[in-house]
Amino acid sequence: MHRQALLPTLPLLLLGCPLFAQVDSVAIGGAEEVEAYEEALTEDAGYDAIALPSLNGGALTLKDSLWLIPGYDIYCGWNTESIFGHHDRSQPLPTTTLQLSHAACDHEMPTCGAITSPFGPRHGRMHYGVDLKLQTGDPVVAGFPGMVRIAQYHRSFGNVVVIRHANGLETLYAHLSRISVDVGQMVEAGERIGLGGNTGRSTGSHLHFEVRYLGRPIDPARVFDLTEGVLTASTLRLDASVFELPKAAASAYYRVKRGDTLSSIARRHGTTVARLCKLNRLSTRSILRVGQRIRTS
Ligand SMILES: [Zn+2]
Repeated sequence: MHRQALLPTLPLLLLGCPLFAQVDSVAIGGAEEVEAYEEALTEDAGYDAIALPSLNGGALTLKDSLWLIPGYDIYCGWNTESIFGHHDRSQPLPTTTLQLSHAACDHEMPTCGAITSPFGPRHGRMHYGVDLKLQTGDPVVAGFPGMVRIAQYHRSFGNVVVIRHANGLETLYAHLSRISVDVGQMVEAGERIGLGGNTGRSTGSHLHFEVRYLGRPIDPARVFDLTEGVLTASTLRLDASVFELPKAAASAYYRVKRGDTLSSIARRHGTTVARLCKLNRLSTRSILRVGQRIRTS
């Protein structure tokens, strides 16, 4: 997508941001107006004043930034430090329809590996993205055009990139072995943003890929058909159901009977001995007692 596509609606929508309430009678245009915005910005402690290191190699003025930052009207800000920390969860969930695609070349699967872990509850915690198999060094590309908001090392995500897109979606790419973009850089769909890896809290090379809107996680499978590598549709309807997080299945238990072994219990419950050991803090050599309660899922 071209940069110009971001331009037309932004300044009008900005006036809806609380951040700009005090300057809402000012039309964007001249130098004084920009100063007024600058003041308003620096008074908001939640967001860093906009400072983009480079765009086309040159420094951006604040006015440029207001025009150019994707989704600025939706987020009322641009935080290049905090991955998702500034979302106000008391705000009502949006109901809207996002345009995901205008043309065949404006989206791309970040990597083409198989899904190794889906979105949803996992080992008692939420997994807010999908894991896609790759080899360390494989290219990882931007799913949609946008501007790089985060490019940093994080102790869980490892080397991580977050891109803000014009429709307000943000995509996150984690565990990279290498980041090849800078904060503030515009990227095209399919443009390489880094190399896949195993950095941060990760036990094998994979891409952890997230899709969020206003900080709220959305199952990436609602956006991409992850096995076919295509968009599920050219639009995405956002309503409360999209933001509802799937619940973990209730734990199941089994009472040990005479003659049972960990492997017979595992077989009968469609699980593995290793999983039973982990769930019950047992070792493979633990002796089972008749009547003992074993958690099976
Ligand atoms: Zn993951």
